[in-house]
Amino acid sequence: MKRIVVVGGSLAGVNALEEIRARGFEGDLVLVGSEPHLPYTRPPLSKEALANGIDHEQLALHAPGWYAEQGVTLRLGHAASGLDTRDRVVVLDDGTTVAYDGLVIATGSSLRRPAMTAGISTALELRGVDDAERLLAAFQNSGHLVVIGAGFIGMEAAATGRRRGLDVTVVDIAAYPMSRAFGPEVGRWFLRRHEDHGVRVLCSTGVTGLEESGHRTLVRLTDGRTLAADILLVAVGAEAATSWLSGSAVAVGDGILCEPTLATSVPDVVAAGDVARWHNRTFDESMRVEHWTNAVEQGRHAAATLLGERTPFESVPFFWTDQFDARLRCVGRPMPEDDVAILTENDSTLVAVYGRRGLLSGAVCVNAPRQLVTLRRAIAARTPFLEVLGSGLVAS
Ligand SMILES: Cc1cc2nc3c(=O)[nH]c(=O)nc-3n(C[C@H](O)[C@H](O)[C@H](O)COP(=O)(O)OP(=O)(O)OC[C@H]3O[C@@H](n4cnc5c(N)ncnc54)[C@H](O)[C@@H]3O)c2cc1C
Repeated sequence: MKRIVVVGGSLAGVNALEEIRARGFEGDLVLVGSEPHLPYTRPPLSKEALANGIDHEQLALHAPGWYAEQGVTLRLGHAASGLDTRDRVVVLDDGTTVAYDGLVIATGSSLRRPAMTAGISTALELRGVDDAERLLAAFQNSGHLVVIGAGFIGMEAAATGRRRGLDVTVVDIAAYPMSRAFGPEVGRWFLRRHEDHGVRVLCSTGVTGLEESGHRTLVRLTDGRTLAADILLVAVGAEAATSWLSGSAVAVGDGILCEPTLATSVPDVVAAGDVARWHNRTFDESMRVEHWTNAVEQGRHAAATLLGERTPFESVPFFWTDQFDARLRCVGRPMPEDDVAILTENDSTLVAVYGRRGLLSGAVCVNAPRQLVTLRRAIAARTPFLEVLGSGLVAS
């Protein structure tokens, strides 16, 4: 293999680059990324950076000089628009091509944009640093922030906006915040925390239309009310960024369909991070994980696979979110339809465990780091759910 190309200039892609060099690959390395910026980390964009200001140096995954030191050719500001796996070339949006012998696909997630936001210039979103700059500029003014979508990013932005003194309303069709991930029990707890801090959370409420009115946006709701937003953030989730692969031989279906090793359906092409769907043997389930730690681990694992290793990627996913003084840490793969038991609940702490097919499938620990470590081990060990409930394993 003389040249490896990584498409997607972010967390999974950069970790793949690091691992490729760490394993002694001395050939050409090319990084193709649609954003014009050097790769950076995203979690602060809805938290510290949105609260305190954006420091590009702090967000950067590596100093600018690192890429040259590692012999990485950067093709930033160019999206890959096609892939020809027979001739082994990536086609870029300017019509040029980049030839490869090995390819890492790490194009992550792209935001869902509801049709009603088309033509609404005041509707902001939050995925990249440019979005965060725009939102931060809007946060400089006082006023009413309306967030459509009570998922992690919507709720984090709501908490940050509130801490900055904005009047904040969150609207979601779901019954509780983050309930698509964790079900109602954890969602109810977070609803109370947000309300305690003065965030208005309108759940089980849809948005029927948006209308620009001067510098404001009118947000029409299913219950007949209209909210006047000085700042409107649309945060209704993301999907795997695979559209550029349409017509290619790479198998796709809610993410790139990978083998347990993260190899794709095409030889010498691997995938990693938010974009990759694989069979995780720890859970005996197919999954696609949109979390930071997964992108790091998979970037490294996919690189190893490309260079000839054949180890399945088995993991207990980990995720965090910080909202006000609540530090939620989640391990495993909880699903809203799982059995749920609350082991600890008070105003500052929450521990919820989830069971699927008789086994512990996940745990949510808010301000409970000790329990998190124990539960992570129990998930990896495929512990029966009932055993966790009866064992006093995670007594607070
Ligand atoms: C605001 C925010 C807050 C978050 N907070 C947390 C958190 O607290 N905890 C947590 O665990 N996770 C968090 N996440 C999720 C975490 O950041 C992602 O899981 C992680 O960034 C995934 O990395 P990735 O490299 O797979 O994909 P991405 O970070 O999505 O990067 C993919 C890159 O590929 C580029 N790209 C896409 N299509 C193409 C193309 N066709 N050609 C070239 N380049 C392309 C994109 O522009 C992007 O730069 C957060 C995400 C966001 C947006």
